[in-house]
Amino acid sequence: MKTIGLLGGMSWESTAGYYRWINEGIKERLGGLHSGKIILNSVDFAELEKLQHSGEWQRIGELLADAAHSIEAGGADFLLICTNTMHKVADEVAAAIEIPLLHIADATAGKIIAEGVTKVGLLGTRFTMEQSFYCGRLSENHGIEVLVPDLLQRQQVHDIIYNELCLGEVNQGSRKTYLHIIDDLAQRGAEAVILGCTEIGLLVKPDDTAVTLFDTTEIHARSAVEMALT
Ligand code: GLU
Repeated sequence: MKTIGLLGGMSWESTAGYYRWINEGIKERLGGLHSGKIILNSVDFAELEKLQHSGEWQRIGELLADAAHSIEAGGADFLLICTNTMHKVADEVAAAIEIPLLHIADATAGKIIAEGVTKVGLLGTRFTMEQSFYCGRLSENHGIEVLVPDLLQRQQVHDIIYNELCLGEVNQGSRKTYLHIIDDLAQRGAEAVILGCTEIGLLVKPDDTAVTLFDTTEIHARSAVEMALT
């Protein structure tokens, strides 16, 4: 079994989910007392979130590249960045290490294509919903058409992520807001919706809606299990 490197803590609420999905996945595949071989470097999200909102992406790239380097030095065979948003600096991180980076958008696109879906809605931070590093990768590299909510809804989705979900708060009112936005995307023609922020799965579950959901945390973690076992 290969050793999985996790660059986490963004937020730790979702990194805990990765830890669970990976270990459950390994147990499903190998049974008994088997569990994942994992090296985790978990950062202090408060420092990074400040840099995100002041636009200091170069500094974020340097910090995450350093953290990735320590994971590689610790013996990981490949790396996951456990957040969609921070894939904005995925190229800088990948350039700092020799081991492969399992990109969250590529893992998600693989699952979407396997399900025969070609047009999806995307929920995530405003960085993820509005910038080309994510939507562009889905459409240009994978031929998937991406719809995002309108500006007001994007702000609502973004605020709930940073002010609630990253703090571990799960509110019924916020769930309603998300479900309404998911319905809007479906009415506009989305065949499914990507939960493109690793905390959204804490709030919205597949049983909450008739719309097919692609949870990036689950997909990314399950892809890591596959990669670890091949
Ligand atoms: N975990 C989130 C994501 O998947 C947001 C936190 C962050 O900005 O990294 O985008």
